[in-house]
Amino acid sequence: MKDTDGNVGTLRGRVAVVTGGASGIGEATVRALAAEGCRVGIIDLDETRARVLAAETGGLAVIGDVSRSERFDQALDQVEAALGPLDILVNNAGINGGENMRRVRPRIEQQMDEVGRTGRPPSTPLDATLEMTDAEWAEMLNVNLSSVFYGTRRALRSMQPRGRGVIVNVASLCGMQGCAGFPHYSAAKAGVLGFTRSVAKEVAHLGIRINAVAPGFIDTPFQDQAGQRLLDTIALQVPQGRLGQAREVAAAVVFLCRDESAYMIGQTLSPNGGVLTV
Ligand code: NAD
Repeated sequence: MKDTDGNVGTLRGRVAVVTGGASGIGEATVRALAAEGCRVGIIDLDETRARVLAAETGGLAVIGDVSRSERFDQALDQVEAALGPLDILVNNAGINGGENMRRVRPRIEQQMDEVGRTGRPPSTPLDATLEMTDAEWAEMLNVNLSSVFYGTRRALRSMQPRGRGVIVNVASLCGMQGCAGFPHYSAAKAGVLGFTRSVAKEVAHLGIRINAVAPGFIDTPFQDQAGQRLLDTIALQVPQGRLGQAREVAAAVVFLCRDESAYMIGQTLSPNGGVLTV
């Protein structure tokens, strides 16, 4: 299949936006899409990193908070004014809920010690749901789920009249199997998958494809708060015996952006090292 410039199998000349593109999976995706020939807009809160990466990849950095619809709309307006109409949107920006992580992590480690000592299921409660505040819940849902709706709605306004476009939403393994201690994160990511499946069916006949990527445990700054001990334990529970790399997730995102995946609609690709094999 040829792209707009007649190049076979590349994304040359397409305008792409990656939210949360300044770090981790987003950064790897920006680099991978730029290598495919895309002009890439990065929307992120981290101005310094976004600008450095945009300069390196020949793209554009726009500082914007994707959890607020008017800010997200403005950021996409800015990208389109500079680079042209949007062909690809990767809704990747996300948070792991720092406060909850700080409370729950020592309890998870206590559970690990208990299981190691007794060989039986732990008795230490995580109390993640019991102690979660409304504000923590709302922030998680706004950043990790509502942003995906805001970005998709704005992208469709641009893609629908042109009869083409690709959206990839970054969910998580937690949204497929639930992660103990992270109910708000798991709920938001399960929401991303449900949203993706619904909108994909709604717009497929208009020439627009929407799919999701649900990574397992990936070695990025996102996991810093988990601490080395927990990450080592997680790695041992991954059939492949290691955490994933951001570029391995980016490769799945790029595949879903390319014309080769034209028949993929509302699907979830999950690079997870074998943790979940469905
Ligand atoms: P990361 O922390 O390295 O990068 C996240 C980026 O998003 C940062 O640059 C941050 O500034 C940006 N961001 C956060 N809130 C934002 C907002 N409101 N507006 C704009 N930008 C914002 O994390 P990562 O590991 O690269 O995660 C990327 C995505 O992958 C997230 O959606 C995350 O939930 C998902 N994910 C990560 C893992 C993992 O193990 N790392 C696993 C599954 C899913």
